[in-house]
Amino acid sequence: MEHIECLIIGSGPAGYTAAIYTCRADVKTVVYEGMQPGGQLTQTTEIENFPGYPNGVKGPDMMEEIRQQALRFGAEIREGEVTSIDVSQRPFKVTTEYDGELLADSIIVSTGAAARYLGISSEEEFKGGGVSACATCDGFFYKGKDVAVVGGGDTACEDATYLAKLCTRSISSCAVMCYVPPKPCNTACSTRPTLKCCGNTRPRNSLASNKAS
Ligand SMILES: Cc1cc2nc3c(=O)[nH]c(=O)nc-3n(C[C@H](O)[C@H](O)[C@H](O)COP(=O)(O)OP(=O)(O)OC[C@H]3O[C@@H](n4cnc5c(N)ncnc54)[C@H](O)[C@@H]3O)c2cc1C
Repeated sequence: MEHIECLIIGSGPAGYTAAIYTCRADVKTVVYEGMQPGGQLTQTTEIENFPGYPNGVKGPDMMEEIRQQALRFGAEIREGEVTSIDVSQRPFKVTTEYDGELLADSIIVSTGAAARYLGISSEEEFKGGGVSACATCDGFFYKGKDVAVVGGGDTACEDATYLAKLCTRSISSCAVMCYVPPKPCNTACSTRPTLKCCGNTRPRNSLASNKAS
């Protein structure tokens, strides 16, 4: 059975970065790309918050550059998913989609996460152009605009507070709405004039032709 020194599961920024480090430490490394080679950033157009790109960079272009960097140091990048790992024994036993079973001395799991969208109509159409799943990534693009944050948990509250500050700086009449507000959100609302919490409100199951509604 094939025996790998270091197995990296996932080919997003985390997986490729790990591969750059392990390869430079002279550890023979194999990366399994999974169902989304390059990870989530291959889904986005403009990235503006990564250092080293003063004019921004397209997600797929940046991921290709990081991939090339990992290859340069000797990472072996393979197609397919890792379907199971058995860490009850050493070396670890790994099952892969295309290459069957293999052994690995070490495993780095960098399988990322996926944004949970609402599933309402036209959401796909406006992704990256009005509909976003990351306030800190995309909030800057909506500076001075009205933004609705959908959700009632701590993250929604945090994101609404972050966006309220951003918007205050550019336009004072901007409203940031948080649906089904948790208690901390209500507190934040009382101290920030640009943050409005709407309890028991759901987004409509439609989007206007030129803006989200
Ligand atoms: C539309 C969009 C826009 C974004 N814009 C920005 C931005 O502008 N700035 C910013 O900082 N962040 C942005 N993000 C967030 C950013 O994409 C993530 O923070 C980042 O990709 C996380 O990197 P990661 O390597 O941890 O995981 P991911 O990028 O999620 O990669 C996970 C990898 O694991 C692989 N994988 C999963 N399961 C298996 C398995 N069983 N076997 C093998 N491989 C597997 C997948 O194929 C994938 O390659 C954006 C996200 C989205 C969706």
